[in-house]
Amino acid sequence: MGTELEKRDGTAVEYPRLIGRFQGSADGKKMIVVGGMHGNEPSGILAARRVLDALARQQPRFRGTLAAYTGNREALERGQRFIDKDFNRIWTTGHIELNRQSGAAESTEDRQQRELLDELEVEIGSNPHDVVFIDLHTSSAAGPPFVTIGDTLRNRYFARVFPLTAILGLEEQIDGALLEYMNNLGCTTIGIEAGQHDQPISIDIHEAALWVALLAAGMLERGDAAQIERSLRYLEQQRAQLPELVEVLHRHSIDPEDGFQMEPGFSNFQLVEAGQRLASDRRGRIEAPFRGLLLLPLYQGQGSDGFFIGRRVHRFWLEVSERVRRLELGDYADWLPGVRQHPTIAETLVIDTRVARFYPLQFFHLLGFRKRRAHGSVLLVGRRAHDRLR
Ligand SMILES: [Zn+2]
Repeated sequence: MGTELEKRDGTAVEYPRLIGRFQGSADGKKMIVVGGMHGNEPSGILAARRVLDALARQQPRFRGTLAAYTGNREALERGQRFIDKDFNRIWTTGHIELNRQSGAAESTEDRQQRELLDELEVEIGSNPHDVVFIDLHTSSAAGPPFVTIGDTLRNRYFARVFPLTAILGLEEQIDGALLEYMNNLGCTTIGIEAGQHDQPISIDIHEAALWVALLAAGMLERGDAAQIERSLRYLEQQRAQLPELVEVLHRHSIDPEDGFQMEPGFSNFQLVEAGQRLASDRRGRIEAPFRGLLLLPLYQGQGSDGFFIGRRVHRFWLEVSERVRRLELGDYADWLPGVRQHPTIAETLVIDTRVARFYPLQFFHLLGFRKRRAHGSVLLVGRRAHDRLR
C-alpha cells in the first residue's frame, strides 16, 4: 500500500491509493480500474466507489477480482490536472526505468508513478493476459461519452460490448499514456471518457461503463445484477446518433508558451469543415486541416493537446482489417515497393513515403501497424503488441 497522505490539519485525504477491492471466485479475470489520473477528474473514483459498495451490499455471483486505484493523488487534493507534469504522458518504458533508478530531480508525478506502479505490478502478477485494465477520464469540453482503445483485435472485441462510440488511434497521437503501457504488458485495455469534469452525470456514466465492463469481461452475467441491463440502456441513450467507430487522424499539440485559446462553444464530436477557425495562439488563427469530427477541444489551462480530429470508420473496413490481421498479411507488407523491415527493430517497417506514397497510414493501420515516428520522407510503423484475440 502507498502511504496515506495527510492534509495540513492532519486528517487523512479523501483519495487513498486503493479505492477498494471485491473478490469473487478464483476462475475469473482480474479487472484493474484507475480513476483520477488527472487531478481535476475525480468522477472515476466516485463511480468505482459506487460499484464496489453495491457489490459488497448485493454479493452477486462474481467471477474474478475487481480492484480500483486512484491515479494522481496529490493533484486530486489540489483539484488540478497535474502538479509538475502530465501524469498520463510519462508511462513509457524508458521513463519508468529512469524514474526507478534515479530518485533525484524528481517531480510529484514521478513519485506518484512509483507508488501506483508498485500496486499495479502486484495486481497484474504473472499473467497480464488475464487482466482487463480500465482508465476513467473526463474532459474540459461538453459532449457525449465515448470509449478509447488501442487498436488490437482483443481490445476491439472487448469494446464491442459497450453501446458507446469507440475511438481508435488516440494512443498513437500521444506518448506515455498509462493505457498503452498496460496494453503493451499484455492486458486488455479500454479508456472511458465520460463527459465534462464537473457534471454529476459523468459519475453516472462512469458507473454504468464499469457495470458493462464487468459484463464484457465475463465477471458478471446479465442476470447477476440489475445494474447491467440498466447500464446498457443508459449508455445507449447517451450515445444518441453518433457513429460506432471513429479513427483519430490529427492532433493539434500545444506548448504552454503558445497561448493556445480554443474558440468558444465547441463540443466533442462536433462536425467541423476544412479551414474552419477552431482556435488561435500567438501565431494567429488555427484552422481545421480537413473536414471531420472534433474531439477533446481544450477548455482548461493545463494540457498539451489542443484538439483532435477524427473520421468515422465504416464497419466494413473494420471487418476487412480483422480478416487481414487474422491472415497475418502484415507479415508480407515488406514486399511492397518502398517498404522494408527495420534492420534491428523487430515487427517494425521502414517506409519511404516518396516511393510508397500510395499507401497512406490508414493502409498500415488496417494491417495492424501503428505510427512510431516520421522523419522527412521516412515513416516508421510498428506492429501493435498483443494484436490477437486471447
Ligand atoms: Zn484525463
